[in-house]
Amino acid sequence: MPGKNMINKLKQATVLAQVHIDKISQTAEIIPPLHLSTTYVRDADNEYSSGLVYGRPHNPTIQHLEKVITTLEQGADTMVFGSGMAAATTVFQALKPGDHVIAPKVMYWSLRNWLAGMATEWGLQVSFVELSDLSLVQASIQPGKTKLVWIETPANPLWSITDISAVCDIAHAADARVVADSTVSTPILTQPILLGADMVMHSATKYLNGHSDVLAGVLVTAKLDAFWERAQQVRTNHGGILSPRDGSQLLRGLRTLHLRVRESSRSALAIAEHFDQHAGVSSVLYPGLAQHPGHDIACKQMTGGFGGMLSLRFKGGKRAAIGVAARVKLWKRATSLGGVESLIEHRASVEGANTPVPDDLLRLSVGIEDVNDLIADLDQALNQL
Ligand code: PLP
Repeated sequence: MPGKNMINKLKQATVLAQVHIDKISQTAEIIPPLHLSTTYVRDADNEYSSGLVYGRPHNPTIQHLEKVITTLEQGADTMVFGSGMAAATTVFQALKPGDHVIAPKVMYWSLRNWLAGMATEWGLQVSFVELSDLSLVQASIQPGKTKLVWIETPANPLWSITDISAVCDIAHAADARVVADSTVSTPILTQPILLGADMVMHSATKYLNGHSDVLAGVLVTAKLDAFWERAQQVRTNHGGILSPRDGSQLLRGLRTLHLRVRESSRSALAIAEHFDQHAGVSSVLYPGLAQHPGHDIACKQMTGGFGGMLSLRFKGGKRAAIGVAARVKLWKRATSLGGVESLIEHRASVEGANTPVPDDLLRLSVGIEDVNDLIADLDQALNQL
């Protein structure tokens, strides 16, 4: 088995392809085993020498998965959850009533609704701020009260970019933590902990699993501290752990993460460039394009690509957007993102009346199909309008 130093030096592709199989060599299996037991036998001396007591806090399949993700994000520890929302809400539930948090003005819609609704009713004070404007972030800090700044970059579905290290400087000067929802970037393109973030969150339902058949969430911490212990207690007591069967499937999906993310990013850039000058398209929102307002920061903090997500806005307004979605044949009209199959969605219809998302916008999750087929399908849909 490679020593700890060697594991720390391995490239992400090697970690992913092998998912630390050397760490479980008792039975010499080439894939990590699936452990289903919900409880463990206590030793005769009344101790648990294995460290495993009960399935809600402890499961070896889940712990194996957590070690792989910790290595990928270069963190100190990881917890996986039954969904991305379970991971995200755990962070806020580890705070105390009266604490103030800053979150992006435009972000993953369900989490924004939860923050504005239940979290606020429970006593958190939440300011929704345009995080790409650092002077607004600074002005929103309430000294002594602001405990956390939540980043999502690139952020759903306008793909605005937040400067992770600059926000960390502002937050840390005020003793506030920074947590980055890095679902869209994935550890392949950005490692927020190396940029100063205290925690990273993923909806592992998306790229980490990549096959649209597991709901899961991830939190990675940069350090083992009292806040992380509190978050661990929230998961154990609220029961948001992932089932080991899904954990095993997620480990399998993870093994091709680097290949899928690079391919989706390449194709997303090609699609963005193709439709940039299209007569029916008013704008393409993609951080890989030079005119995107976050492009320079994206170049600084994303390596090897700008991700597989983009949005198109149509000159013909809502009718054109819905018309294109209706006429595509390869792209699937479905919510979610980060799978091997390409998805298209009219976000304003999903988010409802108070959405900040324009109704002429379609969100595209680019999969790993041939990019020319994907472009041709969108072209024929646009040409029929
Ligand atoms: N964060 C982002 C950026 C997302 O896109 C999603 C889901 O779409 C979530 C969090 C929530 O994840 P889940 O659906 O796994 O609960």
